[in-house]
Amino acid sequence: MSEARIDLAAYRRNLATIATRVAPASVMAVVKADAYGHGLLPMARAALEAGIRWFGSLDIATGLALRAGGVGDESSILAWLLGPDEDYAAAVDAQIDLGISTIAQLESIAAAARDSSARLHLKIDTGLHRNGSSAADWPRLVSRAVELSTAGRVELVGVFTHIAEASFDEDSAAIERFHEAIAVAESLGAAFEVRHLAASAASFARGDARFDLVRIGAFGYGIAPGDGVGPAELGLTPVMTLTAPVVESIDESSVLGIGLADGISSAVVGAVSVALDGRRYKVISIDAGTMTVAGPGRRGDNAVLFGAGLRGEQTLQEWADATGTIGEEIVTRLSARVTRTYEA
Ligand SMILES: *Cc1c(COP(=O)(O)O)cnc(C)c1O
Repeated sequence: MSEARIDLAAYRRNLATIATRVAPASVMAVVKADAYGHGLLPMARAALEAGIRWFGSLDIATGLALRAGGVGDESSILAWLLGPDEDYAAAVDAQIDLGISTIAQLESIAAAARDSSARLHLKIDTGLHRNGSSAADWPRLVSRAVELSTAGRVELVGVFTHIAEASFDEDSAAIERFHEAIAVAESLGAAFEVRHLAASAASFARGDARFDLVRIGAFGYGIAPGDGVGPAELGLTPVMTLTAPVVESIDESSVLGIGLADGISSAVVGAVSVALDGRRYKVISIDAGTMTVAGPGRRGDNAVLFGAGLRGEQTLQEWADATGTIGEEIVTRLSARVTRTYEA
């Protein structure tokens, strides 16, 4: 009933726009959380068509799903969220790059690597404190990785970190710490193919954050950063349009076939508007399966909840601002009840 229409051409265009912007750095398409609710494999295939050869899967299971779904050896896939009981052998066999922070992870992976060597990216913490080796542990981690690399057990592919992208000065400090960590690693004999630090916002905003590779999630889907800058100002197009049918018309209000069970937040009540026939009407109530808007509609009409803003509807950014969240959270919360349909 409710439908998320995904504009694959817009996704490819966004990725191309970003690729041009960050060149000569390469673009990793981050497809975690089912490609931010857009659907993993269709988005990965569109990214391949757009020339993307790096994928960020977050976890190993998603990396394996990408390999099984047609992302072949010509592409690298990085998983960096590793649990205590990971099946590293399966990941290494599928040539999933692994982002690691500790010697314990390094030893487990080296032990699991049988026929092929494990491809590793070493993560340094530069202030965000979300995984990453501390500067104090860094030399030991690097030295052991270099040792295992010399023995042919692992391949040192990358060095990386993650930054907040909330304050220019804090990001600058993180970039400085990243440079220092790379210098330390190189002095210990490490050589890396790729150095990467930035996600969408910093990739777009600052040249000194790009290094060799940038990890792009939100901007690829046309989802703006949370700071009020809209995707259009960046030359990007929202990829998802969310629609729902009118299931009942009562007086001057319309009941739509989408609700809490579809992953819509109750915060939309009184806060956001929905477009019916190009006109906007406030949401006045919501329950598990339906929401009611204060405007006339006919059974079978399709209401547009959010989209690119071309048919009178609000954008995802407007929904996010009106409900006190960020666009990414709204799209990743949409449940499997919402049918994803794709326009090539
Ligand atoms: C999610 C994520 C990204 C992508 O972030 P966006 O702001 O959505 O582009 C990049 N790097 C890491 C480590 C992430 O977890």
